[in-house]
Amino acid sequence: MTGNGGVSFWWQQLGLPAARAPLPGDLDVDVAIVGAGYTGLWAAYYLKTLQPDLRVAVLERRFAGFGASGRNGGWLTNSVTGGREQYGPEGGARQQRAMNETVAEVVRVAAAEGIDADIRLGGELNVARTPAQQARLAAWFRAESAQPHTDVELWGPRQTAEHVRVAGATGGIWHPHCARIHPAKLVRGLAAAVERLGVPIYEQTTVTAVEAGRAVTDRGVVRAAAVLRATEGFTADLRGEHRTWLPMNSSLVVTAPLPAAVWDEIGWADAATLGDLAHVYMYAQRTADDRIAFGGRGVPYRYGSRVDGDGRTPERTVRALTKLLREFFPGAAQVPVEHAWSGVLGVPRDWAATVGFDRATGLGWAGGYVGTGVATTNLAGRTLADLVLGRDTDLVHLPWVGHRARAWEPEPLRWLAVQGLYGAYHLADRQEARGRAGTSPVARIADRISGRAH
Ligand SMILES: Cc1cc2nc3c(=O)[nH]c(=O)nc-3n(C[C@H](O)[C@H](O)[C@H](O)COP(=O)(O)OP(=O)(O)OC[C@H]3O[C@@H](n4cnc5c(N)ncnc54)[C@H](O)[C@@H]3O)c2cc1C
Repeated sequence: MTGNGGVSFWWQQLGLPAARAPLPGDLDVDVAIVGAGYTGLWAAYYLKTLQPDLRVAVLERRFAGFGASGRNGGWLTNSVTGGREQYGPEGGARQQRAMNETVAEVVRVAAAEGIDADIRLGGELNVARTPAQQARLAAWFRAESAQPHTDVELWGPRQTAEHVRVAGATGGIWHPHCARIHPAKLVRGLAAAVERLGVPIYEQTTVTAVEAGRAVTDRGVVRAAAVLRATEGFTADLRGEHRTWLPMNSSLVVTAPLPAAVWDEIGWADAATLGDLAHVYMYAQRTADDRIAFGGRGVPYRYGSRVDGDGRTPERTVRALTKLLREFFPGAAQVPVEHAWSGVLGVPRDWAATVGFDRATGLGWAGGYVGTGVATTNLAGRTLADLVLGRDTDLVHLPWVGHRARAWEPEPLRWLAVQGLYGAYHLADRQEARGRAGTSPVARIADRISGRAH
């Protein structure tokens, strides 16, 4: 293997960006945004589009796209993170419709702003490879097809193989509201679009505290009527936010480009994003330059909510992901893995994403997307813009607005709980791989403890 870390393969492919200037000193603006990932940048984009004379500044510890936004698996998908069950049938349906529209909105803005992010609308396919996964697939299909705005199709083994030949796949569930993207190209293009609108992005500037009316940084104090927190998996580093969202690691490997003969064997011509129904699930994409990027959980969590360095990934995670990739695609076994990297995502205690703005203090936030933030961040950005500007739109009445989960347990309980849960999920996957018919009870118990719904 040639590369490990370096933020991500996506950034290595583009070349790490030249650093933007830090905050020059104290500053007065109308809106200060903490974090230059998709959330912060989308919020800036819509605020300035709606009100061009607004003074907006983005404050970023490293560089725009340093976090999950420059490292993810590139699924621009319509998943409603966690909350659909909690929102009731009507609220869940509104949230789902908003997410479907969000996928289309990102595609629209990328085209309008000239952002070439290798976007390809091939839908999302999740496959089953064990009897227990197949049972979950069927149950998932029944539940999804009973909801409005889901447009799911259930595929048998033949139809699944006509799209992509995954070894041992017994069926699949597919929907059209998903595009494959190049994450770093999207965040790079979005940052440039925001700058064109006149928003400065101050990099190498660490916010140490977010308070009513100001963001305190290591380079000066930014006074602002509204301060928006868009720090996702890094939120635990901020004063007072240590137990808000648990920083969970996810890791990927990417192969060298596959020869045409191997693609003939695998298929995957429509480049649908590919996942599975394991408890410790995988996610993959066929890249625009014909590689396979293949992700899953590595070391899920570090003691004390410590977040990662620059994406360096432990060898055993690289080995585990490479092994699974080759089990999925035995025909690609000879193709070398070229790079591995990791990133952090934010997990609220109830696994449900949230966006909000407190008019009294001027403090706003968005995040807790767990593994599906690529599209949701756009909905968050549009919603934050409407909330800050006091616009009474449909978006500000969606059920996730203002949603709050309780805090995570203090250490060492938090570390023990996550280690225990992931141990349980791995055990459940091993039991199911041996052929048990239904979902392992170990996984059911772990779901109940973690508050995670499938
Ligand atoms: C490996 C991986 C794979 C994923 N795959 C997918 C996928 O395929 N599809 C999907 O939908 N979602 C996926 N996700 C989730 C998705 O990438 C995230 O939900 C999304 O990018 C979050 O964007 P964000 O802007 O909120 O956070 P981030 O992109 O993490 O941005 C936060 C920014 O805040 C900055 N920051 C943090 N603290 C401070 C501070 N104190 N001061 C100043 N700046 C600060 C950081 O440097 C960072 O740039 C994945 C995540 C990971 C880690």
